[in-house]
Amino acid sequence: MSRFFSEKYAKLEPYVPGEQPKDQRYIKLNTNENAFPPHPAVAEAAAKAAKTLHLYSDPECLELRKKLAERYGLTPEELVIVNGSDEVLNFAFMAFCDRNTPAVFPDITYGFYPVFAKLNGVPYREIPLREDLTVRAEDYLQAEGTVFIANPNAPTGIALERDRIEEILRANPDHVVVVDEAYVDFGAESCIPLIRKYGNLLVTQTFSKSRSLAGGRLGFGAACPELIRDLETIRYSTNPYNLDSMTLAAGAACLEHDEYNTRNCRTIAETRDRTREALAALGFEVTDSKANFLFARHPEVSGEEIYRQLKERGILIRHFRTERIRDWNRISVGTEEQMAAMLRETEKILAGCR
Ligand code: PMP
Repeated sequence: MSRFFSEKYAKLEPYVPGEQPKDQRYIKLNTNENAFPPHPAVAEAAAKAAKTLHLYSDPECLELRKKLAERYGLTPEELVIVNGSDEVLNFAFMAFCDRNTPAVFPDITYGFYPVFAKLNGVPYREIPLREDLTVRAEDYLQAEGTVFIANPNAPTGIALERDRIEEILRANPDHVVVVDEAYVDFGAESCIPLIRKYGNLLVTQTFSKSRSLAGGRLGFGAACPELIRDLETIRYSTNPYNLDSMTLAAGAACLEHDEYNTRNCRTIAETRDRTREALAALGFEVTDSKANFLFARHPEVSGEEIYRQLKERGILIRHFRTERIRDWNRISVGTEEQMAAMLRETEKILAGCR
């Protein structure tokens, strides 16, 4: 830290993204990217947009916003477009939390929430997941703060039904409830259809996972126009050109071929369920994940050992050092071949440890 660094950030511990090593080619199952590349039309649209990079991008993101509105049966005023859903989550901490309105989220969830809270000087309260690693709506009925729920949750992959989230929304009419649906398209129920019913609901989604656009950095928020206007106030006060022209064009092309994305999501969900059974057959305890990753622990071999040995064998998965989940690993769902390789090597590791 330099002597110039503001003391308000002195204790900030930045988010640590999953490792992206360049020393060798790994089978990358550690950052929940989509197993498939985007539709070819996406690269074409981005390349075409590159020809006008001397001009600013559209701060209103109008073409994309209209397409997205059509896709979800909304109006453009019910949407905000952002540079990856991380950005809209940060905006939500800025817009809807303060010293008197803490953020409330599970103790085991997306690791960026506490970072955003600290970045914005916002107090936060963590509600422990139940013993079975589930989020229970009952625990959020008197939240007394802005609720952040990842649904499906990360890194467990466990989803809450929409009815349970409605209970949280109804019980907290004076607080915003943010539902982070980064992984919803792999098998959970979206709350987007509820935004007209609940003025306190903000749903965030991303193109990074189900639409194969992690490197494009594209996400969005869906909410009633009043909440969207608050988020736009923050967006126009930080960076009105938060989306570059190539990503805006890529996103629009992506939506024009959404059946391609839907098909890939279905394939990934099928691979996930088959891999889950295969891991269970190897003795793993595996959560009922509805996301594009699995969360698993073995009763005999530590999570760290499995992570380390798989890395030596050229396969990257995600290990967390957090106390409650240190025995577990998160494994992104790749192609059938990648999962077969992971299972094969895991079986060898287990045999070597016995
Ligand atoms: N929410 C959750 C639960 C995530 O795991 C991620 C991805 N790390 C995000 C939001 C943000 O994704 P992006 O910024 O790529 O949209």
